[in-house]
Amino acid sequence: MAVERVRCPCRANPECKLCGGSNYYDYEVGPRGWLPFACPTCGGSRVMPGAADAPPRQCVTCRGEGSIDPGYPPQIETTGGFLRMIWRVFFGG
Ligand SMILES: [Zn+2]
Ligand SMILES: [Zn+2]
Repeated sequence: MAVERVRCPCRANPECKLCGGSNYYDYEVGPRGWLPFACPTCGGSRVMPGAADAPPRQCVTCRGEGSIDPGYPPQIETTGGFLRMIWRVFFGG
């Protein structure tokens, strides 16, 4: 198991509960590799929690996805996690 520093998709938004605006969060790589997890900012609701009278805003952390893919960015279509891992080694992330 390893803990990796992953760039947060929120682009350092202080409203983000995942990284707290630091732009990076720690992701513990599990036995099955890099897996998407539920977004802590919106709790999977895809919109920012806010005042009841405010119009819903797209969640800054998951960008409306409801979950966070630690492989983002960059995103590569691949069946295994291997190529993505190699990509990360060379291009950072
Ligand atoms: Zn963030
Ligand atoms: Zn979210």
